[in-house]
Amino acid sequence: MGWLQDTRDLGKIIFLIVRDRDLFQVTCKGDLIPKARSIPRESVISVTGTLKENPDVMNGWELLLEKIEVLNEAESPLPLDPTGRTPADLETRLNSRIIDLRKKGISDIFKIRSRAAWEVRDYYHDEEFIEVNTPKIVQAGMEGGATLFKLDYFGAPAYLAQSPQLYKQMLMGSGFDRVFEMAPVFRAEASDTRRHIAEYTSIDAEMAFVEMVDVLDNLESLCRRVLNRVAGIETWDFPRLDYEDALSMVGRDEMDRKAEVELAEKMDDDLYFVLDYPIEEKPFYIMGKGDKTHSFDLFYKGIEISSGGQREHRYPMLCRNIEKNGLNFEDFRYYLEPFRYGMPPHGGYGLGFDRFIQAMMGLDNVRESVLFPRDRFRCFP
Ligand code: ATP
Ligand code: MN
Repeated sequence: MGWLQDTRDLGKIIFLIVRDRDLFQVTCKGDLIPKARSIPRESVISVTGTLKENPDVMNGWELLLEKIEVLNEAESPLPLDPTGRTPADLETRLNSRIIDLRKKGISDIFKIRSRAAWEVRDYYHDEEFIEVNTPKIVQAGMEGGATLFKLDYFGAPAYLAQSPQLYKQMLMGSGFDRVFEMAPVFRAEASDTRRHIAEYTSIDAEMAFVEMVDVLDNLESLCRRVLNRVAGIETWDFPRLDYEDALSMVGRDEMDRKAEVELAEKMDDDLYFVLDYPIEEKPFYIMGKGDKTHSFDLFYKGIEISSGGQREHRYPMLCRNIEKNGLNFEDFRYYLEPFRYGMPPHGGYGLGFDRFIQAMMGLDNVRESVLFPRDRFRCFP
């Protein structure tokens, strides 16, 4: 059983190309020809016959047809050509995503993504992390109010979580000294780029009793393991550039998008860290280091795929950071409590899984690595 992908009509003989997980050829002759000829492409059919070895056929065998049944007839014309012979733009493809997924090159992205998710979990389990699930309906925003989705929570305001940041940090006070989460986060990104979507899968990790170098090492080995096991990519140690050195390499005074792209062009490696961002560029929970911070971004082919660092675990300093950032203490009441009763030094990172897949597979747009992407203009299918 499968989908009728294609019909090759030679008059006295018809070849049907049928697709289940793979393709196979069905050869039909004689009385069966009129019926075979009449079935629209992409109909679901059942074929019965004799398997015959044939080195000239795509997978070394064909089915000599004895009986054919239509289980569900497809309408025509099709919204997309699943053979890929007639290319379609991304919008059209995403509108008819299920039909789009019938193309091998497209479904492969999600098989690889699934394998990568497996390897990520495997890595964390080997490293003695526990997997956690933190709430996605929250009261305080973390990464800037501008990208919060507001919702009606039984008549009171609440938001969709922009990141598990507050919760994974709070958990460091519980005794779970290594946690990770792989889950959706939500950002009302008004900007329309190839790397921003409104709902993405974030891989978050947090570790207690560590310094920044331990966090860098952990993220680096995670990436190297996934790249190696999923894509067979061998990587060298990721270069670790100081923020100021990175800026002088491109002759700029701020790490904006332009500088990021120019830096990628200068680097020999696809993956590298930029360390110790200025305090103005990082959120309040990052630990300061003079006018810099114990922070880093990880870049992959010029795209930022992760941000992380050492967190401020000292209560008075954390309060000062909240104040300096003009944030409201009341919003952080529950977050702050564990910091008053024994919070260990800790650090961690958030890694955009969709961007990682995008860069690893060389996809033009992050939307290609998501089954049903959401953005400013798309909340369907
Ligand atoms: P950018 O500067 O690219 O908008 P960010 O610094 O705002 O990213 P972070 O808050 O550091 O993002 O989030 C951690 C990671 O989550 C990023 O490094 C990136 O991989 C991913 N990420 C952030 N925003 C998005 C988005 N809108 N769509 C897809 N992935 C995202
Ligand atoms: Mn970031």
